[in-house]
Amino acid sequence: MNERAKKYIFITGGVASSLGKGLAAASIASLLERRGISINLLKMDPYINVDPGTMSPTQHGEVFVTDDGAETDLDLGHYERFTTLELSKKNNFTTGQVYLEVIENEREGKYLGKTVQVVPHITNEIKRRIHLAADNCELLIGEIGGTVGDIESQPYIESIRQLAQDVGQENVLFIHLVLVPYLEAAGELKSKPAQHSVKELRSLGLTPQVIILRAERDIDQSIMDKISLFCNVPKHNVFKSLDQDLIYKVPLEFHNQGLDQRITELLGMWTSAPDVSSLKQVVFNAENPKDEVTIGVIGKYTDLIESYKSLDEALKHGAYYNQLKLNLKYFDADELEDLSEEDIAKRFSDISGVLVPGGFGERGTEGKIKAVQFARTQHVPYFGICLGMQLAMIEFARHCAGITQATSEEFEKSGEFIVHYMKGQSKEGSKGGSMRLGAYDCDLLKGSLAEKVYGTAKISERHRHRLEVNNDFVDQLVKNGIVISGKNTELNLVEVIELEQHPFFIGCQYHPEFKSKPDKPHPLFSHFIKASYDAKLKGKNS
Ligand code: GLN
Repeated sequence: MNERAKKYIFITGGVASSLGKGLAAASIASLLERRGISINLLKMDPYINVDPGTMSPTQHGEVFVTDDGAETDLDLGHYERFTTLELSKKNNFTTGQVYLEVIENEREGKYLGKTVQVVPHITNEIKRRIHLAADNCELLIGEIGGTVGDIESQPYIESIRQLAQDVGQENVLFIHLVLVPYLEAAGELKSKPAQHSVKELRSLGLTPQVIILRAERDIDQSIMDKISLFCNVPKHNVFKSLDQDLIYKVPLEFHNQGLDQRITELLGMWTSAPDVSSLKQVVFNAENPKDEVTIGVIGKYTDLIESYKSLDEALKHGAYYNQLKLNLKYFDADELEDLSEEDIAKRFSDISGVLVPGGFGERGTEGKIKAVQFARTQHVPYFGICLGMQLAMIEFARHCAGITQATSEEFEKSGEFIVHYMKGQSKEGSKGGSMRLGAYDCDLLKGSLAEKVYGTAKISERHRHRLEVNNDFVDQLVKNGIVISGKNTELNLVEVIELEQHPFFIGCQYHPEFKSKPDKPHPLFSHFIKASYDAKLKGKNS
């Protein structure tokens, strides 16, 4: 056996979707990386969209953006938060991308007149992409989206089956994460769906070596033994994954059960024990807050936290860092639209910081502008991200710079476009992958709040937008007191704005939430939370 052969773990899901496969993959990756193994992660999405960029966030959740400008599945956000990796286009692909490539190849005559089929052409393309993701690591952890038994995921199951043949079974580990439902009427957890799911997997030619049981209640040994017996998986390869109040406990729970140890044994990788101290510290801070702080998030997709996944996590990271309990209060921007200043103040009476996140379209924007106005005039900390920055600029233009018709080209056909489409961007045109995407450098103004917060004047952050602050208005806005504290000097774009004589008022054109990690919170979030807490202590807005 080749001692240094590349290793692969593939994670499939059974019985139901939304089991938290992404979290399981990220947690396993975190532990293995902490064991000193050089890892990489891959999410394979069986849907036909080329990327999730054009999918509604209410359907698909957040679109996670990588440094190289890929619009990816939100699981990549978990992967980055749980590891030290910076992911790229290579770390996520969809059936849409696979077919697009194969069809393009066919049109170019690359298949020499052969009939193009799922096996081998689609499966070969899937395997090529898996190998590409595994290029620079010792161990690739690949997650297959969807549930075993779905029509869409079959080519993926077939591809990993073949890949195990190609690279040697001993180098591949199949982990099946499966739901063990609790039946209220019977008063017990049921193992049968898990058995059927493994049977289905076997019928496709895959034998899972490790099974992780997902359940809302603790699973007793008899159920684990039963699943071990019926699924033909040794008892010590059956693990459980129970609901956790804090996602960063998942890797610690896996570690306590010896999952990472078992994985390395099964793959024949000899490593030291993982250092999980920074994760433990995060959990300790989260569980031992010295006080609490309440932040108001003004958004459109208020009912679906998934669409602001990274934002939600980044705010929590900031709170853990400050050892504070975070209360997030979501406000539907639509509902704020017709409220008077007094009514807004009443609605916001128990929040110590206002955050307007990214978003698209006109709906709700007037409500968000009211929230900005409240934060600005009441000296309540404000943090505006992307659309939240653009709206802060519009609010300032209307109320502090006398540009009463100030608006964005995204919302209106005419008016004073304080925010307008960037060169080359428009409402029309191709929808997929066509925004300003990915990492761009930004220079921060010396002595500004932004520079203080970052502790450096040169930063790089990730973007996803079509519009920008209109430079034609910048002089007038600056004269009236807005501070342009961050610029992309190369493209002459406003990237960060702030206000003097305000405890914390920052708007940024980029999405800092994508780069925050639990044990390394993004400075904008840790400082925003701190400023909000200070405002609370000063009795601001209470
Ligand atoms: N809709 C705005 C734009 O395209 C803001 C985008 C965002 O918040 N991500 O510029």
